[in-house]
Amino acid sequence: MKSFENKMRAPKGIEPESWFIECYRRNNGRPLKVLLGLYKGNYYKFVLAVLFFFIKHACVWVLPIVTANIINDITTKNPNVVQNIIMYTALMIFLIVLNVPMNYLYVDYKSQATRYAETGLRKALVLKLQQLSISYHTETMSGKLQSKIIRDVEAIESLSTHMFLSILNIALNIAVALVVTISKSPVVFLFFLVTAPIAAFVMMAFRTRMKESNKAFRKEMEETSARVMEMVELIPVTRAHALEKEEVHKMSAQLLAVAEKGYRLDLIQSLFGSVGWAIFQIFQIICLGFTGYLAFQGDILAGDITLYQSYFATIVNQVSAVISLVPIIAKGFESITSIGEVLLSEEVEHNEGKEILENVEGEFSFENVHFHYKDSDKNTLRGLNLKVKKGETIALVGESGAGKSTILNLVNGFYLATNGRVLMDGKDMSAIDLRSYRKHLAVVPQTSILFSGTIRDNITYGCGVVSEERLMAAVKAANLLELIESLPDGLNTVVGEHGGKLSGGQRQRVSIARALIRDPKVIVLDEATSALDTISEKLIQEAINNLAKDRTTFIVAHRLSTIRDADKIAVISAGRCIEYGTYDELMEKQGVFYEMKKVQS
Ligand code: ATP
Repeated sequence: MKSFENKMRAPKGIEPESWFIECYRRNNGRPLKVLLGLYKGNYYKFVLAVLFFFIKHACVWVLPIVTANIINDITTKNPNVVQNIIMYTALMIFLIVLNVPMNYLYVDYKSQATRYAETGLRKALVLKLQQLSISYHTETMSGKLQSKIIRDVEAIESLSTHMFLSILNIALNIAVALVVTISKSPVVFLFFLVTAPIAAFVMMAFRTRMKESNKAFRKEMEETSARVMEMVELIPVTRAHALEKEEVHKMSAQLLAVAEKGYRLDLIQSLFGSVGWAIFQIFQIICLGFTGYLAFQGDILAGDITLYQSYFATIVNQVSAVISLVPIIAKGFESITSIGEVLLSEEVEHNEGKEILENVEGEFSFENVHFHYKDSDKNTLRGLNLKVKKGETIALVGESGAGKSTILNLVNGFYLATNGRVLMDGKDMSAIDLRSYRKHLAVVPQTSILFSGTIRDNITYGCGVVSEERLMAAVKAANLLELIESLPDGLNTVVGEHGGKLSGGQRQRVSIARALIRDPKVIVLDEATSALDTISEKLIQEAINNLAKDRTTFIVAHRLSTIRDADKIAVISAGRCIEYGTYDELMEKQGVFYEMKKVQS
């Protein structure tokens, strides 16, 4: 493994993650330059790969010459024919055996270069995704990003292999065939120059037709698989409404359509396949007739006919290969552009040069804060004023869409105020290094985000080594002890994908334990809306109270019963704070909060 890591090591002075981003920036809009840039420091690996390819492939180029020479020796009754046959046979065996180690070396160097670029690009994308702002991620579908990291990088890897190796290999193959031909017979060379490209283009024209019908069939298959998925998902509804017959009928029609496309594809494929093959053979026969005639005239030796037959086939196949590379290259360049959309995005959080916080007290002041989301034309927050003292718990309540989660996003620093100021410990949030601030912040989101490790991994996420004592203290305070003791593997229980093996309430308590163990100064808590039974609610409430103790806590509360213990309650409406005070004060006031409470109880 170590030696592999050495092979993948970046050339001196290059750190792939940042270099690849820089390479995109310098060559913006010039995909070929970007591609070349990705291999900076690794070009020699491609040169070596081409050299080994040349040696490995020598047997293929030499064989037609050897065959022709043997036939010529026999037909011209060369007295050294036996020695020559032995020499040629030995040479061919040597070249064929050499093919194996040379092929290994060729793949080794080629793969080192392309895998390095592939990994570097993925690392650069991962780094950039971690730098991009939350608003970028909110707006970009995760499936798209996944496709860039997996499929576009794959397409670039394939583009590199073809650009740097296939094209060189093709050029070498054609050059060898033409050089040998011209040195032996300029007339045959001219014949090749005219007929080989025509043969290749005609063959490719037929292959393109095949591709079109292949595409139509693939699309119909994709449609079918989507319909099957939909049908399976709908089965409970279909059965409940006794619509089985209709569904079977619908699917049968779709399956028939696939069969029809498949049948047409079979016919077209066989027709164009055989026509393409026949055209190639006709050209080969013309070549045979032409060289046969030249041999009859005494212009070339009889044995050279086989040589020209092989080289003609090589040239036609190589020209076809160039034509078939065109879509791969187009796709690769498109993928370079697609990755550039992420790597060149300016939507990053700018922390450089801003004040780095060592300590956070947790005092907040919202001063006439206005905020609007990028793609929204109206302000979500419209002159919000709010003061939160150090260690205070403030509950945000209000109708759906009032702007409560938006306020939490400003406290997280995920978004900055469009107008007005959000001050933290008297410092404007837009002037501080948010990464240093977030070291003192913990977030308990509405839907707890767990990953597929153990409960222990999920609680200690990002904390490094944590003492068992500290971990158990967090577990206890988050009211998780009873649950963990009831599990056979305790803290080492695997929670499944997204924590799917735990209930909603349990997941939230794991989230609370994760927040507790970080011992933060500021807590942002978006209460789960899902209905919980009274016992779960009580367990969570206690856990929240333990978490909030002596820490500045912002809670978006959906169940008004849970905020009795909050120090202050802010009623948010249309992006403003319209009522503010303790629970008792607001109840006494008999205003909006009082009315809301009355509806919920
Ligand atoms: P709820 O109680 O339903 O969660 P909320 O009070 O937390 O609501 P917010 O989520 O802050 O409300 O949303 C306030 C307004 O901002 C809504 O009108 C919403 O549609 C809009 N909004 C929220 N997020 C975005 C976004 N990323 N882009 C554009 N508009 C957004």
